[in-house]
Amino acid sequence: MSRTVKRAFKFRFYPSDVQAAQLARTFGCVRLVYNKALQARTEAWTLRQERINYNATSALLTGWKKTDELAFLSEVSSVPLQQALRHLQAAFTNFWAKRAKYPTFKSKKRSRRSAEYTASAFRWRDGTLTLAKMTQPLHIVWSRPLPEGCTPSTVTVSCDAAGRWFVSLLCEDVITPTGASGAVGIDVGIDSLLALSTGEKITNPRHERADRQRLACAQRDLARKQKGSANRAKARLAVARIHARIADRRRDHLHKLTTRLVRETQTIVIEDLAVRNMVKNHRLARAISDAAWRQLRTMLEYKAAWHGRDLVVVDRWFPSTRLCSACGALAQPMPLDVREWTCRCGSVHDRDVNAARNILAAGLAATACGDDVRPQRESSRTGQSSAKQEDPRATKGVPVL
Ligand SMILES: [Zn+2]
Repeated sequence: MSRTVKRAFKFRFYPSDVQAAQLARTFGCVRLVYNKALQARTEAWTLRQERINYNATSALLTGWKKTDELAFLSEVSSVPLQQALRHLQAAFTNFWAKRAKYPTFKSKKRSRRSAEYTASAFRWRDGTLTLAKMTQPLHIVWSRPLPEGCTPSTVTVSCDAAGRWFVSLLCEDVITPTGASGAVGIDVGIDSLLALSTGEKITNPRHERADRQRLACAQRDLARKQKGSANRAKARLAVARIHARIADRRRDHLHKLTTRLVRETQTIVIEDLAVRNMVKNHRLARAISDAAWRQLRTMLEYKAAWHGRDLVVVDRWFPSTRLCSACGALAQPMPLDVREWTCRCGSVHDRDVNAARNILAAGLAATACGDDVRPQRESSRTGQSSAKQEDPRATKGVPVL
């Protein structure tokens, strides 16, 4: 049985100078409107104990456009500005539902530069995309086909720290799930990227080690440059490019892996990050593996929903590493560098694979008796993952491929 899902398709594009200037101005206005509305909402609450909703901030925006000093807000499309207010509303909704921290101001340097256009603010004709206030269509590199005959409902334009421009098109796509069986447990390791209960170990993306060395070099280089100099700006861009490449490769790697897992397996069991955090470890490798875990979980959540699979999140802590998956005996705590251990029953365990097997067993036991774990609801988020989202978007939860 096939199902229709919303799916974002992301492409690179190359703006003309005029388009780049127009978009940069739009990003600036989006940030300004978001920050001013956040300030207004914060003041209303702290000074007068009033809650201002989306409609009230929308009325404020109309007022700002009429003042002399903010008249320039009318020079850009009004839709991305309205969307910024909606994103702020979403951020507050998440805050009140205790899924996220209090919204913070968007920073000129650190925040994602993006603008979201709904259907009234762009023209889609014969596979060309023209944004409001622009005369020429965007020069998009169609690196993959869009679903047959689709029309995007929302378009998001962004520019990353490495200076690359992207457009993300939200489309409807039809997914036809294939048959799958069995269950797999996944442990996000420190040594290898992931270990599966089947015994398979998935290593880090190729070139990652070399890229990290290059990154360290570039960062040292940046630190030596004088503040505010042109050479510093150049060095910063070099660092951003290497960061972007590492992130791209890792995302690609995880996409391929999660797609394969979801296609093959009916039940997938992972551990909750809050649970993982109960074992503190401040090594850099741990921070990296946590980042991989968040991406993995997000991808598994929506792909499992697309294909009708069960994603089980084990949220009760148990000593998964040193519990023998063959006989259930508990071994002594062991240091991180122990990769393999032998149980009293004679089984020899790979540390990470053993953990994955225990996670699988815990997930299956709990779904059988309906205890200890929460079966994952479609598109639900834990506070953990949404709190980390820098930019709660209206299209949140919709994956970018
Ligand atoms: Zn044993």
